[in-house]
Amino acid sequence: MICEKMVGLVKGSSAIRAMFEEGQKMAAIYGAGNVYDFSLGNPNVAPPEAVKDAVMDLIQNEDPMRLHGYMSNTGFASTREAVANSLNRKYGTHYDAGNVIMTVGAASGLNVVFRSLLNPGDEVITFAPFFAEYRNYVANYDGVLVEISPDTATFQPKLDEFAEKITARTKCVLVNSPNNPTGVIYSAETYRRMAAILNEKQKEFGTSIYLITDEPYRELVYGDVEVPFVPDFYKNTIVGYSFSKSLSLPGERIGYLVIPSEVDDFADVYGAASVANRILGYVNAPSLFQLVVERCLEETTDISYYERNRNTLYEGLTKLGFQCIKPDGAFYLFMRSPMEDEKAFCEIAKKYHILIVPGSGFGCGGYVRIAYCVAYETIVNSLPAFAKLAEETL
Ligand code: PLP
Repeated sequence: MICEKMVGLVKGSSAIRAMFEEGQKMAAIYGAGNVYDFSLGNPNVAPPEAVKDAVMDLIQNEDPMRLHGYMSNTGFASTREAVANSLNRKYGTHYDAGNVIMTVGAASGLNVVFRSLLNPGDEVITFAPFFAEYRNYVANYDGVLVEISPDTATFQPKLDEFAEKITARTKCVLVNSPNNPTGVIYSAETYRRMAAILNEKQKEFGTSIYLITDEPYRELVYGDVEVPFVPDFYKNTIVGYSFSKSLSLPGERIGYLVIPSEVDDFADVYGAASVANRILGYVNAPSLFQLVVERCLEETTDISYYERNRNTLYEGLTKLGFQCIKPDGAFYLFMRSPMEDEKAFCEIAKKYHILIVPGSGFGCGGYVRIAYCVAYETIVNSLPAFAKLAEETL
C-alpha cells in the first residue's frame, strides 16, 4: 500500500497524463499535422550550435575522471565561478562561486530551497496564476501554500491582499517572472512595493522572509522589455534559474541557485542547500551539462521563433474575438475562456483538435493556457480551428 499522501498526488497528476495521452491518441487517428497540441511547455526550438560543439568537445577532450566522476554537492567550482561572473557582468553584482549551487533544473532548485527553509506548517505565499507544480514542491516539506488571488486586469501581483496574508508563519514568498502561465513580466514597481511590504513585515514579526524568484524564462523576452533583477530590490532574495528553456535543454536537467551573501543566515542557508541537494537524492547536478552550460552562459536558443509564434497567435485569436493580454515573455498565452467553466471550454476545443489547459490548475479559473512553443505551422494551421471554436463559444 502506498502512503496516503501519494494517493492524492497520483490522482492529481493523472489529469495531466490523461491530456498527454489524449493528444497522442488524437494524433494517431487524425495525423499529427491535424492536431493542435498546445498543452506542454516543451521547447521546440533546437539548442544553439554551441551546445552541441561543447558536448562533442567535452566528450572527446575532457579528462573522463573529471567529466563523469562524483564532485562537491554544489557542483564544479569552475562552473559556479563562470555563472557568478556572468551574473556580475549582467547585473553589476559581486557574486563568487560560493554563492552558486548547480541544480537539477529549476524544479530541484526549488525543492532544495524548501527542504532547507521550511518547518512543517510554514507558509509559502505565491501569486495566482502560478506554475501548478508549486503545490507539490511546498507539500513535499509539509509547508502550506498560501495563494494570492489573481489581478486579471494586469496579472501583476495583488499587493494589498499580499500584505494582509503575511503572518508570523510566512517563511517564503515565491514569484515567477516572466510568468508561466501568463507571459507577464513583473514590473520594477511591483518589486519595489513588494520589498517595502516584506521589510515592514519582517520587522513587525521579527522573522526572516525569503523571496524566492523562479526564473526559467528570464531570457525569453520579446521587444525591449526589461526583466528586473530581483536581488536589487530585496536583500533576502534567492534566485532559481534553469537552462531548460533558455538553451532548450529540459531533458538534461540543469540549472542553478544563487544565494547572495547578504541573505539572513547566509552560511546556514547555503550549507543547508548544499546538503539538501545531496540528501534529496540529486547528489550533484549532471556533470557533463554543468561543463556544457559553463561554456554557453551567453548563448540562448532562437527566441525570435517564439516571438513570431506569439505575434501570429495573439493577432489571430484577438481578431477572432478572444481576449488575452499580449505576453511579453515566456511562451504561453493566457486566454480568457468565453465560458465561465473553462474546463468545459477545453473539452469543446478538443472537438476541433485543439489541446489547451484549464486555468484552474494554475489557480485561476475562467482562463486557459496555450503553450505556443510549437511549430509555426501548427499556429497557422490551428487558426481555422480556433475560428470554429469561436463560432461555437463566443
Ligand atoms: N518553474 C516554472 C515556472 C516552470 O514553468 C517550470 C517548467 O516548465 C519549472 C519551474 C521547472 O523547470 P525545470 O525543467 O528547470 O525543472
